[in-house]
Amino acid sequence: MIISPSQVLKGQTCMKQVFFHYELGIRPNITSANLAFGKAVDSSVMDYLAALSTGTSLPSMEDVFLRHWKKETSIPLEYSATKSESKMLDIGVKMALALPEAWEKSELMVFTMPDGSPALQVKLAVQISKQDSLRGYLDLIALNQEGKVVIVDIKTTGVEYDDIYTLQSDQLTAYQILVDAHADRLGVERADKVGFMCLHKKTEPVIHQPQIVERRSQDRVQEYLDTCGWYIEDYNAGRFNRCSLGAFNSPCKMCDFKNLCSSGDTDDLIIPDRAIAPLKLVA
Ligand code: SF4
Repeated sequence: MIISPSQVLKGQTCMKQVFFHYELGIRPNITSANLAFGKAVDSSVMDYLAALSTGTSLPSMEDVFLRHWKKETSIPLEYSATKSESKMLDIGVKMALALPEAWEKSELMVFTMPDGSPALQVKLAVQISKQDSLRGYLDLIALNQEGKVVIVDIKTTGVEYDDIYTLQSDQLTAYQILVDAHADRLGVERADKVGFMCLHKKTEPVIHQPQIVERRSQDRVQEYLDTCGWYIEDYNAGRFNRCSLGAFNSPCKMCDFKNLCSSGDTDDLIIPDRAIAPLKLVA
């Protein structure tokens, strides 16, 4: 089985979501505009960093964002009550224009892979048991001013991340495991630091300076590998129970499968053939 940090996180939230998404392959039939916005911003950041690290000239950041936004909005999207299409476009352009200055301030430099390419959207995998592997797509491997290897995950968020989350995030632990496993191939000793760079999506967007912390300890790494192992055990044993958590932190309101899960309604979903029998639907 191949697992990803986001799959494990979903499992820690609600295994019924895992069942609908990964086991049955069900997807919402309308994409959230927030998701499309995140992808357009991510692609703009990657274009900027790639051009910067290869010395290629880049068109204006406004044009870069507009190109990606056009692509992401070519399908029907669901907008929230507070963020219309024009509002999101405005925020995205402001964010893209603010990126060069924010990146320069960070004093980070994109790491160059042994083949000469910039270490952006790096796909890495590592065997974690005889049959199972952990796979991740790292936004960025960078070097700081002291030449330390820093794994940075770029996030487009509605809220600023707390420092405690950077210290605890399993996603960053997973990325450290992946870089360490490929250290020889990457030509580094190990990942020295991990962190997030948050692009805060509000009317006047803010690009926060990267929140970077020291690498995880060996105990933390082992704990995460245990978590992965238990997720795989639950999945293989078919333990796909619902989990609503508490009213104050319930994942249900934001869940793509809430109508299916609560009342069997599939109108807002794309149901692949393999899900018809398990859901006892008529083909
Ligand atoms: S609605 Fe709640 S319980 Fe059901 S799959 Fe979604 S998160 Fe899980």
